[in-house]
Order: sequence, then C-alpha cells, then structure tokens
Amino acid sequence: MRSLEKRFPSGEGRFALFSHPDCLLHRVGEGHPETPARLESILRGCAALPDSLPVSFQVPPPATLAQLQLVHEEKYLLDLEAACRQKDSLFMTPDNHICPDTFRAVLAAAGCALALGETLLENGAGFALVRPPGHHAGRRSAEGFCFVNHIALAIETIRKRHPAANFLVVDFDVHHGNGIDYIYYNDPTVFYYSLHGTPDHIYPHSGYVHETGQGPGAGFTCNITLPLETSGDEWLRQFSDNLRQAVRKIQPDYVLVGAGFDAHCQDPFGVMNVEDRHFLQAVRLIQETARDYCGGKAGFFLEGGYSTAVLERLVPEIITILATRANSFAC
Ligand SMILES: [Zn+2]
Repeated sequence: MRSLEKRFPSGEGRFALFSHPDCLLHRVGEGHPETPARLESILRGCAALPDSLPVSFQVPPPATLAQLQLVHEEKYLLDLEAACRQKDSLFMTPDNHICPDTFRAVLAAAGCALALGETLLENGAGFALVRPPGHHAGRRSAEGFCFVNHIALAIETIRKRHPAANFLVVDFDVHHGNGIDYIYYNDPTVFYYSLHGTPDHIYPHSGYVHETGQGPGAGFTCNITLPLETSGDEWLRQFSDNLRQAVRKIQPDYVLVGAGFDAHCQDPFGVMNVEDRHFLQAVRLIQETARDYCGGKAGFFLEGGYSTAVLERLVPEIITILATRANSFAC
C-alpha cells in the first residue's frame, strides 16, 4: 500500500482511494468467503492502474473508539473489543467470526470511511477499499460479516459540519443493507435505496418492497427486490428506473454507495446474473446523478463481492471511470 501511496499522491481534483494494511488482519479461517484475498485482489488491480490516472491513494489513521460512537453504542464496541482480546471465535451471530486482530481491522476500515466523509465535505469523491464490510451492522449489532457501519459513519462525519445535508444512499450489494436502512428508517434526510435479492430466499430476509420508512422518514426508503437468477439487463433496468425516483425525492447534497459485487454472475453466492458491463453502467448512472445534483460528491464503500477475479478486474475499472469522469468534470 505504501507503493500505491507514492505512485498516486494527494492532489486537488483527484479521485481519492482509501485503504489500510490493517484491513488485511481480519482472518476467519479456511472456507469463509470474506477473506483478506478480496482486498488483496483489488489492491493488485489498483497497482496495474496507469500512473497518469488522476487518483490519490491514502492510508488514513484508524478510527478511535470515540469516533465510532458517532453511530455505535459504547457498550457494543467495548464488548467487541473484549471478545477479540479474549480470542473468542464468534461475536453475536454465527456469521461474525473474529480473531485477535479483528478489532484493529475494524478501526482501520472505519478510519477510511471517516476520511472519505471528510473528502466529500471538501467537494471531493472517492472509494473506501475496506473490509470487513459494514452495511449489515446496526448501532449495537454485528451481522452478516459486518461490525461497524461505514456509510453511517461517513454520514455522521458529514453531518457534524453540514447539519442540514440530505443524503442519498445507493446500495447495489445483492443483500439488503439492513444496518443502514434501519439506522435511518425514521430519518427524512437520508434516503436509502437498495436493489437486492428477494428476502424470501436471500439473507438477511428483510428489505421488502413495503418497507418504505416510518414516521418522518416514511417514503424515504426504497427497497427493490429481485428474484433469483435475475438477468443483468433486468437488474440494470430496475436499478436505473428506481434511482431516478429516489434522487428526485431526496435532492441529495451527497451520494453514498454501498458497492457490493455479489450480484455478479461469477460470484460464488450464485444469486444473480449481473455482468461487468451492467455494474459499469450503474456506476456511470450514479456518477451522473451525483454530478447533476451535488457537484459530483459521491463516496463508494466496498461491501460484499466474493469472487477475487471479479474484484481484481472490475473495481479498478470502476475507479478508472470515476477518476476520469471526475477529472473531466473538474476541467
Ligand atoms: Zn452482500
């Protein structure tokens, strides 16, 4: 990562990439799909990007416990830290394996999310290349390989300096991001838009179409559910039609993206048939939306996606689109 930092230094108008070596320390045993190899593949792909691409690669400091409390309850965080220290193997759910270094990885990933929030505040755009992922984590719950909620941390970082901001969260991971959805379920300033596999068959078995927010947040959640084996063309059609409606409703100042790649036809979860070109087109639509509504302020956060081959080629291609377009817009 240090060589990527040297090759892609910080600079005005550059698309910001954030990662941290400690994100690789979270290891949960053979056969678990959420492995360090996922991030290693992406970093390998980033190393093949041309020097001329206007990106900056940064390794921000890990988050502090106090910063995590922007979203999460202190007792939950202390329980997680203690469980890792005591060398427990699971935390709260059978999905959430931990190791002695898991808490360090969690702090490092969260530090990248906070740094991306700061970048958006400064009118930039970027991608947090992190693991473990975050979109299933609630204020006091670990779920679905997630421990702290990165997109919520970025939102709360922005809100401290821009309290009246409106946020559009676009989550195209094949699983419903229940953590983000329910943290902001009553909140009319955060529109959560998710396209995911039918909750009847797919984890976390939530995010039905009729779940649209409540109280002041009623109408500010849009869950689009798709059947198993949905084609990439249908996925993209649903994605773009409903994105337009979501963005008109919230009029966002910032766009935050739960970038999960497990709807890919080559993903080992094998749920849907989305291809590279569909993801690339979805990213272009998000970028155009952010450009039209909020000066291009879009932050991408790595969520799921378990084919290392897909991650290695697709994520750098997405970064190339975002960096090139961000730069041409700035000119
Ligand atoms: Zn997922």
